[in-house]
Amino acid sequence: METADYQRILEDVAHEVAGTVGRGRVADYIPALAAVDPESFGIALADVDGGVYGVGQWQQPFSVQSISKTFTLALALARGGESLWKRVGREPSGNPFNSLLQLELENGIPRNPFINAGALVVTDELLSLTGGDASGVLLDFLREESGNDTVDFDRVVAASEADHGHRNAALSHFMAGYGNLVNPVETVLEHYFRQCSVAMSCQDLALAATFLARHGVRRDGGRFLTRSGAKQINAVMLTCGTYDAAGEFAYRVGLPGKSGVGGGILVVIPQRCTLCVWGPGLDERGNSVVGMAAMDSFTTITGWSIF
Ligand code: GLU
Repeated sequence: METADYQRILEDVAHEVAGTVGRGRVADYIPALAAVDPESFGIALADVDGGVYGVGQWQQPFSVQSISKTFTLALALARGGESLWKRVGREPSGNPFNSLLQLELENGIPRNPFINAGALVVTDELLSLTGGDASGVLLDFLREESGNDTVDFDRVVAASEADHGHRNAALSHFMAGYGNLVNPVETVLEHYFRQCSVAMSCQDLALAATFLARHGVRRDGGRFLTRSGAKQINAVMLTCGTYDAAGEFAYRVGLPGKSGVGGGILVVIPQRCTLCVWGPGLDERGNSVVGMAAMDSFTTITGWSIF
């Protein structure tokens, strides 16, 4: 398929899922997220050669939430290497993203880096690797890779998360009790809430993630991750990236993906492109209803899954 067709494919996808826009429930456990228009919808595609295409509100910033976990994982692996895997597993959890249950049974070692407990460990690791500036290093990376200097934290969302962050605080203290957090719990939480609060558009996110489609090479041609490091992240996205619906996502879409409760889903097609879709209405497992439908439609139209 010619790259010139990307725009038309996105328009076909948007047309096909139009009836799904607005379905689902906007996340309200973080009150600042509940203010978003539930009818919002956008989709963007960034190809490995630098082309960007989009439909709908693809340039409107939204709260990236757990999509940030893809980038903190990449930064922790790029800077610290494989030792991270001593502190966090890489198996699907089959439990809700903020569950405490499994953590006790498994001695404070989270199942994977994409559930909240695992992401808190990754943030802790990144704090140690960056001399205490985990969220700053993340922000610099996101700005550089998206080419957008205005990408920033949303201080209202971060404060709202902190005010309602009892579960994340509980997970952190619990892991600290097992010796699996090195930095003070308050510091880890502060950086974690900041990273989740970053506001980016579908265009920004698709561009920022193209290193995953380029086997670890950044937009300026510099190597960020080894080829096998990029493969590892894509693999964990496929098996753990969409909460306890990763099996359903692999079945319907067949591509590495990472969702967030802000309603975004980031998807990688290795060697070809990245996609990001946004629609704030979530299904019962926390994934965007229209986002799932759009990615399903995209792979059905193009036949581009990894399978
Ligand atoms: N900041 C959210 C939380 O910690 C992220 C959840 C998500 O997007 O999965 O609850």
